[in-house]
Amino acid sequence: MSENTSSQKAYTVHIVGCGIGGLTTAIALKQIGCDVKVFEAAPVLKPVGAGILMAPNAMKVFGRLGFAETVKERGHVLTRGLRVTNAQRRTIQQMGGPEERAIAGETSVAIHRGILQQVLLEVLGEEHVLTGKPCKHVEQDGERVTLHCEDGSTYTSDLLLGADGIHSAVRRSLFSEVPLRYGGETCWRGVAEFAAGEEWGGEGVEMWGGGVRLGLFPINDTQCYWFSTETAASGGADVDAASAKRMLVERFKDFGGPAAAILEATPEESIIRRDLFDFVPIDKWYKGHIALVGDAAHATTPNMGQGGCQAVEDAWALQLCVQREATLSQALEAYEQMRRPKAMMVVNNSYSFGKVAQLRNPLLCWLRNIFLRMTPKSVYLKQIKTLYSLPS
Ligand SMILES: Cc1cc2nc3c(=O)[nH]c(=O)nc-3n(C[C@H](O)[C@H](O)[C@H](O)COP(=O)(O)OP(=O)(O)OC[C@H]3O[C@@H](n4cnc5c(N)ncnc54)[C@H](O)[C@@H]3O)c2cc1C
Repeated sequence: MSENTSSQKAYTVHIVGCGIGGLTTAIALKQIGCDVKVFEAAPVLKPVGAGILMAPNAMKVFGRLGFAETVKERGHVLTRGLRVTNAQRRTIQQMGGPEERAIAGETSVAIHRGILQQVLLEVLGEEHVLTGKPCKHVEQDGERVTLHCEDGSTYTSDLLLGADGIHSAVRRSLFSEVPLRYGGETCWRGVAEFAAGEEWGGEGVEMWGGGVRLGLFPINDTQCYWFSTETAASGGADVDAASAKRMLVERFKDFGGPAAAILEATPEESIIRRDLFDFVPIDKWYKGHIALVGDAAHATTPNMGQGGCQAVEDAWALQLCVQREATLSQALEAYEQMRRPKAMMVVNNSYSFGKVAQLRNPLLCWLRNIFLRMTPKSVYLKQIKTLYSLPS
């Protein structure tokens, strides 16, 4: 390691995984003087995936790292917030209004995942990324850490961060196997060629039926991202994407608004189906100079739209802790203490929220909707404050 000053930390840092967590962490640590390299399993980085919602907590981190405006320009700012409705389009909950925005300090942005990854790569610099480098395992030897890749190559650094997602190879190297937990829902996602225009723009909508949900979000001037969940056993499959699309159009044709038109306007090849899993929060996020970031540390079901945002918060916390603490061991302990309670709260609440949102029984759905409508705004605003506050 080169000499460190109090504000600049010239550690060499290797990050496994080029997702939202890995790239944002690389940017955050590069900004404080670290020599960062990201190792990605995929041979090439392609703009895959559908859309993603970056909530105010993530947008505030992007602001502090200096590129929130770029994310807003390349995505779609939800100026009117997010509305949850029933199947008849009667509002159950309205979120992200002016009062909440004032508390949150930012707006949510919906963006294509591939475009977000491209923005992060541009900010970081592609020269910091090595593709076609699947991590096999990692090991600690005194003060140094070695990354062993599947192709036999090895790389040594001061600090190694596993941002390699829910099936993390880095986590497997550090701790015993963590069983995944099925959230009880399967999910389809797609990107439609559909201009939201003035009528549907600036707002995300989530429509709840019995055991099914459909979320619709403009991600730019010409495209909308959607997701749809269904309470189901794991392991189900569609005959093909065309039949999945037909089934979804049929299912949501009476929900009104732009639902059916958006589903119809989706190229079949963009439709992805995946069962939703998380894992029960783990006790430790680091060992020696190796730590976990994002889904590798705290994979969550997407019911609160927070998995990626929590990965972004990890990046911010790592910048703070590495910069402040005298040693890497102290920094990683501080990072775990700073982040684990909130990430754990998100994982647990998201899992429970999924069970409530995916209720099938009409009477229970009716009671749930009444309860949500009657919940005092002050309760919701308190939750928002906790969820969108950043570590300091
Ligand atoms: C349906 C759905 C909707 C969602 N919606 C939202 C949302 O609206 N907002 C939100 O904040 N979150 C959302 N999430 C959650 C979010 O997608 C994840 O939490 C987020 O992508 C985690 O980022 P990550 O960087 O930790 O991991 P990942 O995105 O999983 O990235 C891991 C990276 O590591 C690479 N990798 C894996 N193994 C290896 C290896 N052995 N060696 C090297 N590289 C490896 C992978 O190729 C990948 O590039 C959603 C999730 C789902 C499933």
